[in-house]
Amino acid sequence: MKIIKFGGSSLTDAISYHRVKDILLREKEDKVLVLSAMQGITKKLQKAIRTALKDEDEVECIIKEITKKHQIVATQAIRDTEILSDILERIEKKMKRLERLLYGINYTEEVTAKSRDMILSFGERLSVHIMEGIFRAEGIKSRAMEADEIGIITDGEFGNATADLKHTRKNLKKTIGQELDRGVIPVVTGFFGQSKDGYTTLFGFGGSDYTAGIIAYSLDSNVVEVWKDVDGFMSADPKLVSQAHFIDRLSYAEAAELAYFGAKILHPRIVQPLEPKGIPIVIKNAYNPDRTGTVIEKEGYQREDVIKSVAYTRDIGVIKIEGVGVGCKPGVLSFMASTVSEHGINIKSVITAQTSINFIVDMEDLEECYKLLRKKHSSAVEEVVKMEDEALIGIVGEGMSVTRGLAARVFSAIAEEHVNVDMISYGASKVAFYLIVKGKYIERAVKAIHKEFFKV
Ligand code: ASP
Ligand code: MG
Repeated sequence: MKIIKFGGSSLTDAISYHRVKDILLREKEDKVLVLSAMQGITKKLQKAIRTALKDEDEVECIIKEITKKHQIVATQAIRDTEILSDILERIEKKMKRLERLLYGINYTEEVTAKSRDMILSFGERLSVHIMEGIFRAEGIKSRAMEADEIGIITDGEFGNATADLKHTRKNLKKTIGQELDRGVIPVVTGFFGQSKDGYTTLFGFGGSDYTAGIIAYSLDSNVVEVWKDVDGFMSADPKLVSQAHFIDRLSYAEAAELAYFGAKILHPRIVQPLEPKGIPIVIKNAYNPDRTGTVIEKEGYQREDVIKSVAYTRDIGVIKIEGVGVGCKPGVLSFMASTVSEHGINIKSVITAQTSINFIVDMEDLEECYKLLRKKHSSAVEEVVKMEDEALIGIVGEGMSVTRGLAARVFSAIAEEHVNVDMISYGASKVAFYLIVKGKYIERAVKAIHKEFFKV
């Protein structure tokens, strides 16, 4: 059995929903389809929350806009009037609920984690019904299944939940299994699950991939296909390095590291549920469906020159927490980290030394993080400093931890380009090491590292 996942970039209009259907129907095996929201909808919902907080009159306008978008796609895509009116009715019902939730925010003048997660889940909740309608209009048995209705159970952490695999597995075997037995194509919402006490909890942005992994684990599927508009991972971003090449095989750990570094192919968490069972992931290109893209599996292999890819993330900020002994005083790190995470800020990475703890965060979180930590820190801290507009480079390859001289090669390659390295982290991962450089140097640095390992 296959789990087949399509993200928002493949769900833009009626034609693209039909492309998804056509791809599904090529497949003879049993399959479960996992869908994200239509492109841009999750972002719109985020904006809706912010707007609803300030302006009651805007709520109606937002609801109209989102409703219209889905009505148009449904109407163009579902070629059966009766089925179409059923789906339009479902869309309308959902939009009514969403509207009430947004007014709720407006009246109470606050957004709780609970209501935020609920609201942001609506993109997926709408998308799957349109897909069901398309299948049914062509005489194919299909059913939209929302994660909470089928029992994808989470640990309850809003915004960043983890699936309870044991319970979920038990539930999905029944709920999805039953549909598969009846020859139905289940279309499942990505991105969220339900806590034990019944609340919608998100898996984090891009989390539909993780849903696909959870379902694959639960149903012991033999592969997860993640469909994109590219063939898969590359040795570098081709926008920076025009000679970058396609990578046909990666280990879970390599893929997770690359995903983490902004190679926007996969969500790193998809690997968690798949690893224990060794279920492979295959990246497929919706515009090139016959080609097998990057295959990601348990068994990695070591390239002769070790490094497989250089990835990067721009718009990084660093908070340096300095003081003699911050590194050895117990509790400083955990105190600072929990202060930050209590405010919903994600620390991307931590680099520590005896006299300095460095939090790597997104640029957009830097100011808030800085303010928080300046106000509230431990007595061991002498100074809190922020560094703006940095970039994080990840250099990834199985075998890194047992190969001599790699870091030296990276450093001399970029030193020749007169790029200064602000910080490094080596050894924390067996398959990756990180560098931090000024954002303006990113292109030079990535090109130089790529050239060093791939000669182009
Ligand atoms: N729709 C969600 C997002 O935009 C989940 C996903 O696309 O995977 O992050
Ligand atoms: Mg997505």
